[in-house]
Amino acid sequence: MMFDLCVHIGTRTSKECEHPPMALIVAKFGGTSVGSPERIRGVADRLIKIRERGDRVVAVVSAMGKTTDELMALAAAVNDDPPARELDRLLSTGEQVSMTLLALALEAKGYKAISYTGRQAGIQTNGTHNKAKIVKVHNERIERALDAGYIPVVAGFQGIDANGDMTTLGRGGSDTTAVAVAWGIGADICEIYSDVDGVYTTDPRIAPRARKLKSISYDDMLELSSAGSGVLQMRAVEFAKKWGVTIHARSAFSDAPGTLVKEESLMEQAVITGIAYDTSEMKVTIRHVPDTTGVAAKVFGALSEAMVNMDMIIQNTSLDGATDISFTCPEADLPRAVETIGQMIEEIGADGWDVDEDVAKVSLVGTGMKTSPGVAARAFQTMSDNDINIMAISTSPIRLSMVIRAADGKRAVQVLHTAFELDSESVFEETQLSAEEIAAKMQKGR
Ligand code: ASP
Ligand code: MG
Repeated sequence: MMFDLCVHIGTRTSKECEHPPMALIVAKFGGTSVGSPERIRGVADRLIKIRERGDRVVAVVSAMGKTTDELMALAAAVNDDPPARELDRLLSTGEQVSMTLLALALEAKGYKAISYTGRQAGIQTNGTHNKAKIVKVHNERIERALDAGYIPVVAGFQGIDANGDMTTLGRGGSDTTAVAVAWGIGADICEIYSDVDGVYTTDPRIAPRARKLKSISYDDMLELSSAGSGVLQMRAVEFAKKWGVTIHARSAFSDAPGTLVKEESLMEQAVITGIAYDTSEMKVTIRHVPDTTGVAAKVFGALSEAMVNMDMIIQNTSLDGATDISFTCPEADLPRAVETIGQMIEEIGADGWDVDEDVAKVSLVGTGMKTSPGVAARAFQTMSDNDINIMAISTSPIRLSMVIRAADGKRAVQVLHTAFELDSESVFEETQLSAEEIAAKMQKGR
């Protein structure tokens, strides 16, 4: 229970308490959490518990289970290039099913509830269908419902543009709805419930000694997400950072506290917050490129024009006036990368190119890096002690990424996790379990 975290002393609260008594809370539930009628009744119980302890709550819901995927497949079955407006109209129905069912479940339990589509909740967006941006939140209707004692239930992932057309916010967009609503109504906290119970120092399936973080800064969260670990939609975190909304990422299947995502505290920070692991990048090498002025400009100019998202670039030492140039890019960008290179290979006088898919990217992330020198040296030493060859390196002020052989990937995460003192005392087992198994364990009261 949330109360476990808080000690109320008169009007003051302990440091860890992120919401005052009689707090206003936005509680968002992901697809798995509303995946069946039983789960929806469970969500209703959780909302009722929040109400009963004296807080006010607004729910935001995703579509049930895999509904959004199914709707996309339906659209594709009748039109292989569906117009974005129609697709949004269709996709937005998924969240409208779950919002209504949740309101019905609350009513059945004797609580007043009212569901709102994106339009009814006053979520105004720009007109970019399929990945619209929220431009305004009209909160009046939600606030009136709260004042009248209702539990408002808002459909995630959708809004309305200036033409009055339905828009959607991009996959995973209900997180963004939740943060926007929290900001719009001035909520004390935005709780995001899902089948993941928080943010970990790294993926516990890879490093069983991964630890759940009590809190993480917006910047570290963004850096971890972009380096490959997705717990929250990145747009939601960006929005939260911009408007100072505190997020609590937590489990829909347990009462254990999750991870707070908020402005970093002034308290002493660990050098490294977490390690991201990503096997979706490819390494492309252009062989034997003449080492003359302007070649790199030509190659990378063309690649960026083709919208290839390059992360790391390496130019090997020049031998007999020619050099190898390598870069990494997401798998999805590879066809465009290869096409672009193919078109200019003769013009630049290179021999050819290779694609190496057998690579992994391991990234150390931490705002604390800014003030602690020696992170890179320690990371490289750790890799060398463990006979792991580093093929490429890139850095930002709060991230150090290394490309290595895919076969070394998991081991690299483990040894770095230990070297940077991130290991927990106990070995983690729970994330090996499916959401169903966790739910079953919870019911048994383990
Ligand atoms: N239902 C949408 C999706 O699957 C939005 C969300 O779940 O946040 O992407
Ligand atoms: Mg989802």
